[in-house]
Amino acid sequence: MKLLVTGGAGYVGSVVAAQLVEAGHQVTVLDDLSTGHADAVPEGARFVEGSITDPGPIEGFDAVLHFAAKSLVGESVQEPARYWRANLGGTLALLDAMRGSGVGRIVFSSTAAVYGEPEETPIPESAPPRPANPYGATKLAVDTALTAFAELYGLAAVSLRYFNVAGAYGRFRERHAPETHLIPNVLKVALGEREEVSVFGADYPTKDGTCVRDYVHVTDLATAHLLALDAAEPGTHKIYNLGNGTGFSVKEVIDVCRAVTGHPIPAVVAPRRDGDPAVLVASSEKIQRELGWKPEHAALETIVSDAWTALR
Ligand code: UDP
Repeated sequence: MKLLVTGGAGYVGSVVAAQLVEAGHQVTVLDDLSTGHADAVPEGARFVEGSITDPGPIEGFDAVLHFAAKSLVGESVQEPARYWRANLGGTLALLDAMRGSGVGRIVFSSTAAVYGEPEETPIPESAPPRPANPYGATKLAVDTALTAFAELYGLAAVSLRYFNVAGAYGRFRERHAPETHLIPNVLKVALGEREEVSVFGADYPTKDGTCVRDYVHVTDLATAHLLALDAAEPGTHKIYNLGNGTGFSVKEVIDVCRAVTGHPIPAVVAPRRDGDPAVLVASSEKIQRELGWKPEHAALETIVSDAWTALR
């Protein structure tokens, strides 16, 4: 297929673009490099530097895989209007361009942040979406637009709601500046780039007081996009959660990083971070049942050790 990958110079986008090229697809990456890296665009993909707000004519593509977005919870609390403009405004412009060019299929990078503080764990897709921060709210708004566009215009849409993506696919790894995510920050201590890691809150109602998250390997996550692409049906918006179904606390993650790197990794307790729910664990039962997705790299040790290998 001829595919447009927006945000394909970013972490998840580059891994999916690489897998699509390997699967024999013709891939064009559209990325404004605001947070992505030109050298993350995989060999074999065409690169267009540009914004989704003005994607130009996109006739001839069979589908769009849409990753381009602002994705930091804390930043979204500080600058909500920027998140609404980039994430909702940008996606509406992209959807208009798709409609104008007769491109009728999209796979969208959504998030567990749409659920906010969950009532039940693991979280199924039927859980009421109640985002606890502007980032989650903007992604939920896009999901709502996709449902409407499927009904109104026959769009074939699939949203994948990621839980905590981690690990690396060969050289393709997480490279954010500043880095806010837990696993890369812990590994920076082992690399000697930071003195210690901060644990944001140790008084949550969890097994050891620290937040519990569901870490999914970026390689497994990428595989789900290829399945979603094939499963998209005109007039339908399908939504799937993506995680491993097992929660690890911040302290447990740090312990696994210590075991993988052999470094003592000093950790200090710091205040809670705004907008963090205590526990976020996915039920991925629906995508396993409907699309046959199966995580192949579910062990946290594998996720951390692949991230560690890619860093060195
Ligand atoms: N976290 C932490 N120290 C850090 C970075 C993250 O304690 O340096 C915690 C954060 O508060 C959350 C969990 O680790 O409970 C996962 O955070 P991350 O930013 O990796 O992903 P999120 O869950 O926000 O998508």
